Amino acid sequence: MSASTSAPNARGVLLDIEGTTSSIRFVADEMFPFARRNLAAFLEQNESNTTIMETTHEICREATSLGWSDTWPGNSVVSAVNFLMDRDAKTTGLKQLQGMIWESGFHSGELIAHVYDEVPGCLRKWRAQGLDLRIYSSGSVTAQKLFFGHTSAGNLLDLFTAHYDTNIGAKRETQSYAYITKDFGLPPQEIVFISDIVEELEAAAEVGLQCILSIRSENASISNVHPFRSIRSFDEVFFA
Ligand SMILES: [Mg+2]
Repeated sequence: MSASTSAPNARGVLLDIEGTTSSIRFVADEMFPFARRNLAAFLEQNESNTTIMETTHEICREATSLGWSDTWPGNSVVSAVNFLMDRDAKTTGLKQLQGMIWESGFHSGELIAHVYDEVPGCLRKWRAQGLDLRIYSSGSVTAQKLFFGHTSAGNLLDLFTAHYDTNIGAKRETQSYAYITKDFGLPPQEIVFISDIVEELEAAAEVGLQCILSIRSENASISNVHPFRSIRSFDEVFFA
């Protein structure tokens, strides 16, 4: 049975990525394993790149501070990176290196970002209806642009007017949505926010945005105790 929800007075749409436009599994199942698999080859190919050399020195410092020592087996940089990745570290050097490996993967076509089947068609339709589409994700704006520039449905970047990341504030903070609303230049009631995280919707609703919960099959299940409308596909949202 398909449900539908309408937002006839909306002029802007703010979208989350993971769990909303795209599977939450993509980052865990594709991107992180890709970085790990291609690490040694990437470092070898970029041996003389000074930026990458500086990044690897930083990574060795980060790993050392967490208990790694360069007597661990394997090429020491590879071993330090693996040490951090095994601990799911979010340190600056590691994130930079992962970002560079992902960038090379997206550019070579080995990495292809996931978007749910109906998403590109719905976004194009919404754009044609005059809606201003923007992205808000905890992934960096650079990563978001790489992602939407290289999806299974091709380059979708030109559909979006702006991208926001946690530089403007955390996704569960009301202030972040106040800032984004101001940047849209629209009354909050005319912006629809779609996300899979109830706390993010709560923060946005406090500013007055229209909030819709995204339910996708890979998402963690959510208790029914929340006030939001929900959708299982972008096809269920009607703006006109
Ligand atoms: Mg999400």
